[in-house]
Amino acid sequence: MNNEFSGFTVGVLSLQGGFAEHTRALERLGVKVVAVRRPAHLEGLDGIILPGGESTTMSKLLELGGLLQPLQEAIAAGLPAFGTCAGLILLADEVLDTRADAHSLHSLDISVRRNAFGRQKDSFETTLQFGHRGRQVEAVFIRAPQVERVGDDVVVLSTLADGTVVAVRSGHVMGCSFHPELTSDDGVHEYFLRELVVPAA
Ligand code: GLN
Repeated sequence: MNNEFSGFTVGVLSLQGGFAEHTRALERLGVKVVAVRRPAHLEGLDGIILPGGESTTMSKLLELGGLLQPLQEAIAAGLPAFGTCAGLILLADEVLDTRADAHSLHSLDISVRRNAFGRQKDSFETTLQFGHRGRQVEAVFIRAPQVERVGDDVVVLSTLADGTVVAVRSGHVMGCSFHPELTSDDGVHEYFLRELVVPAA
């Protein structure tokens, strides 16, 4: 059992999508996990993960549950956040090819396009270089968004071989267009905990 992260509590937004897989990945790393379904669940967190799923559905559920604004405010106030796929879309400042009534948290200065990989590449798996230490991670892409613009303060953590940006970080907020929770490789979750959650605590 890895004890490096014990004592830290990380929320997983658990309204829809791949929250169970993120919960398992965090538990493997020794973190206490809180299923975030209501505003009160945001209290006492050291970080939060927004899973993949369907961003427009998650946006609607966030709105219905009164979580949209408290979550946005908590992240703006410094809560470390990590979004994967639909979670990255939710964090983005600008979302292209979405529904007019879909909300975003405006936590990351990027523009993303939903479902941007061509039809035959809707889903694929690859190995990526991730972060500045040259670490390799397994990445599963499922109807993934593409990052089309990154703001001046945004650091690119990973790209595909053709240069397409697939993971970014800006201060205490990061996101990737793939699903690290669907592999047994916990490297990306480890990065989130070590580089964003621990320093902010
Ligand atoms: N295509 C989905 C969306 O727009 C995201 C896919 C995913 O999270 N695997 O929300």
